[in-house]
Amino acid sequence: MSTNTTSAYSDFHLQFISGEWQTGKDNSTNTNTNPYNGDTLVEIQQATKDQLNEAYDAATQAQEAWAKQTPAERSAVLYKVVNILDQRQEEIVDWLIKESGSTRIKAMVEFGATRAITLEAATFPNRVHGEIRPSNTPGKENFIYREPIGVVAVISPWNFPLHLTQRSIAPALALGNAVVLKPASDTPVTGGLLLAKVFEEAGLPKGLLNVVVGSGSEIGDAIVEHKASSFVSFTGSTSVGKHIGELANGGEHIKQVALELGGNSPFVVLKDADIDQAVKAAVFGKFLHQGQICMAINRIIVENEVYDEFVERFLSHVKTLQVGDPNDQGTAIGPIINEKQVQSLRDKIDEAQKEGAKMLLSGEINGQLVPPHVFTEVTREMDIAYNEIFGPLIGIIRAKNEEDALSIANDSMYGLSSAVFTADMQKGLRFARGIRAGMTHINDIPVNDESNVAFGGEKNSGIGRFNGEWVLEEFTRTHWISMQNEPREYPF
Ligand code: NAD
Repeated sequence: MSTNTTSAYSDFHLQFISGEWQTGKDNSTNTNTNPYNGDTLVEIQQATKDQLNEAYDAATQAQEAWAKQTPAERSAVLYKVVNILDQRQEEIVDWLIKESGSTRIKAMVEFGATRAITLEAATFPNRVHGEIRPSNTPGKENFIYREPIGVVAVISPWNFPLHLTQRSIAPALALGNAVVLKPASDTPVTGGLLLAKVFEEAGLPKGLLNVVVGSGSEIGDAIVEHKASSFVSFTGSTSVGKHIGELANGGEHIKQVALELGGNSPFVVLKDADIDQAVKAAVFGKFLHQGQICMAINRIIVENEVYDEFVERFLSHVKTLQVGDPNDQGTAIGPIINEKQVQSLRDKIDEAQKEGAKMLLSGEINGQLVPPHVFTEVTREMDIAYNEIFGPLIGIIRAKNEEDALSIANDSMYGLSSAVFTADMQKGLRFARGIRAGMTHINDIPVNDESNVAFGGEKNSGIGRFNGEWVLEEFTRTHWISMQNEPREYPF
C-alpha cells in the first residue's frame, strides 16, 4: 500500500495528442457518468478525424527515435510507470470504482493485473531477440531479426478498461512501437486518459502514446483504416471484432490484427468433485464484476448425480451476495455499465423464461443494479446458454455423464476460457485437453490472467495471444536477412 503525497490527476476533459493535452474539436460531447449513481464525472469534447490524423503523424514521427533508444532506456520508463501505479494505487482504484462500476474487490484485481503486465513489459526490451538459422545454400548465413512494428492502433473495451488497455500499450511501447489508442466511450479515463497521465509522468517521450476519445461513427473506422498503422490490437465484442477484421483487411490494406473477443465459458462439475469448493468457485467466477468479464462463467454444467446437491448449495451461497454501492467493502455485485446492457439482461431473463428454464432466484432490477438470477433445467440451445450473457444471470445445465458434459462444453461458437472440477487430476487433464478453447483451468475458475502465460481464445473468441513471449512476438515483426558470403552458383 502506498501513501500518496502527489496531487491527483485532473483535466480529464482533454485529449492526449502529440504529447499535448488539447480540447477535442468535434461538436459532440462524451458525458462520462458513474454507473452506480448517475453522477457526471467529466464531459469530454470529442476528437475529429483531423485530430486522429495529428495523433498518427505524431506517433509515426516519435516512433523512429524511440525504437533507437537503448533497451535500458525503454525499460526504465516502464519501471517508472510501475512505481507511479504503486504511488497512485488509491486514486486509480477510486477511478475504477466510480467510472466502471467496479466493486472494490474487482478494482484491486484489475489494478494487480495492470501492474503485473507493466512489470512484465519492462523486461521485454532486454528479452526480445533474433535468431541465426542454418542454410542449405553454401556460403549463406540466415539471420532472423525481430523489429518493432511501428505504429500500433489499440481499441479497448469498458469492462476491465485499465488492464485491457495496458496489456496492449505497455508491451507495444516497451518493444519500440508508438500507439494510437481509442478507449471505450463508457471508460475514457480508466481506459486511456489516466494511463496517458501515468506515462507522461514517467517521462515517455512526446507523441509515442496518443489517446483519442471520439465517437465510433466519427473516428471508429478511421483509426483502423489509417495507413500509418500496420497492426490493430482490438479487445471487445465478436461482432465489432469481425467488422474490425474486415476493415483492416479490406480496401487498400492488409494489416495484422489481434482480436480478443467474446466468450461463453463452461464451468463443468463432475460427479467426484469437491462440491463445496466448486460452489465457491462458481459463485466468484460468475459474479465478479457483475459477470461482465469475457472469461466469466457463462454456463454451469453439472453431472446428473451431483446436480441437485450443487444447485441447492449454489443457491444458498448466491443468496448471501450483497448488491449495491461498489465503493462499499461488502458489496459483491455493483452496477451494470449502462442502460443498454441492463436492457439486454432484461431481454435475456424474459427469453430464458419463455424457453422453459426454471427461474429459482430473481429480484427487482433497480436502476443499473441487477441482482443475481439463477435458472435451472437449462438446455444447451437456450439463449442463456448459447450466447454470451455479460451480466449476473446464470443457467445450470444437467449432463448425463462426463462424455455428455464435454459435448455440451464444446457446443459453442466461442472458445476463450473454461473450467472443470474433479477430484481426479488425470481425469481433469483428459477433460481439459478435450475442450476447444484457448484456456482451461482444473479446479479453479475460468477467470485467470497471468502476465507470463499465454492468454487468448479460438473460434469466435478471436485470434492472437497476450502476455509473456506470446505478446512479445505479437508486437514485433519478423525479418529474415540472409548474407551470401561467397559467390553463389546460379543455374542460368
Ligand atoms: P464493443 O465491441 O462494443 O466495444 C469495444 C471497443 O470497440 C470500444 O472501444 C468501442 O468504442 C469500439 N468500437 C465500437 N465500434 C467500433 C468501430 N466501428 N470501429 C472501431 N472501434 C469501435 O465491446 P464492449 O461492449 O466494450 O466490451 C464487451 C465485449 O468485449 C464482450 O463481448 C466481451 O466478451 C469482450 N471482451 C473480450 C476480452 C478478451 O480478452 N477476449 C476482454 C474483455 C472484453
